[in-house]
Amino acid sequence: MLPFHEPLLARLAGGGRPVVIELGHVREIGTALAAVQRHRLDLRCLRIRTTMPLSSITPEDGWWRIPLALYVPHLGSLPQLMRRLPQLHMLNLRVYLPASDAVNYRGARILASLGIESALELDQGPLEWDKLADLAIYALFGLRPRAAIAPFNDLARRYRSSERVDVSFSHFADPTAYLFLDEAGRVFLDEADRQAGKPLLADLGGLDGLAALPAFRERRYRWQRHFLSRDECACCEGWRICRGTLAHLNGDGEGCRPFCSDLLDAVEEYQARQTGRGPSVWQP
Ligand code: SF4
Repeated sequence: MLPFHEPLLARLAGGGRPVVIELGHVREIGTALAAVQRHRLDLRCLRIRTTMPLSSITPEDGWWRIPLALYVPHLGSLPQLMRRLPQLHMLNLRVYLPASDAVNYRGARILASLGIESALELDQGPLEWDKLADLAIYALFGLRPRAAIAPFNDLARRYRSSERVDVSFSHFADPTAYLFLDEAGRVFLDEADRQAGKPLLADLGGLDGLAALPAFRERRYRWQRHFLSRDECACCEGWRICRGTLAHLNGDGEGCRPFCSDLLDAVEEYQARQTGRGPSVWQP
């Protein structure tokens, strides 16, 4: 995960590491794509955080097939959005919406029904757990054709009880999958560390030795702290799909715990149905 900074891209040229390039405006998409091609980078996606609502963004021809993670505050005007729908359908797009604004629960549902993938950002509260739970059921068990809503459909697709997959995966927040760089080439474990100016490595030249660093190993196994201190997360029924990721939003587990417990049940039920192990109606 790195800012769009040409000298930084040049340092990663031909290195074979997948990159996520962060942009502050959709008008930078064309320039960023040209730089990606110039430096022969393996682009995972362009991550664009804009203050514009989705309906105000006019997709351009050159955006087709570029993987886009588009962060918008909300959908905006629905009539305007419907007029842009044919162009939006041409894109390789996932729309990120902040879950701290309850209007976006409805927004994600609208996008799903229009065939556009979306993701709710769960990293900032307050969250309305009951509405989130309703949305998860719609995403997993709705009867009409619809696009995916993350993190629910990501979990349904990727969750295995023996592997480490949790709600942070959809949000570039897993330090074992994504690292963050700044323009100076310093390496950070997450967005919070980058904003606080606390690098793990002073330069990306040391990336190959990353796995041996005590700070990296500590972060990777930080989840174990919950069991050492025996806090609320250590006895949570939804632990396997959360691992304390939502703890900063709800310290006493009042809302997150029943939500994640129900979500885990729903994911397991969804997977059982996919493999034909779901419940069937009794027969005489
Ligand atoms: S759902 Fe809440 S209580 Fe359970 S593991 Fe996550 S943060 Fe902890």
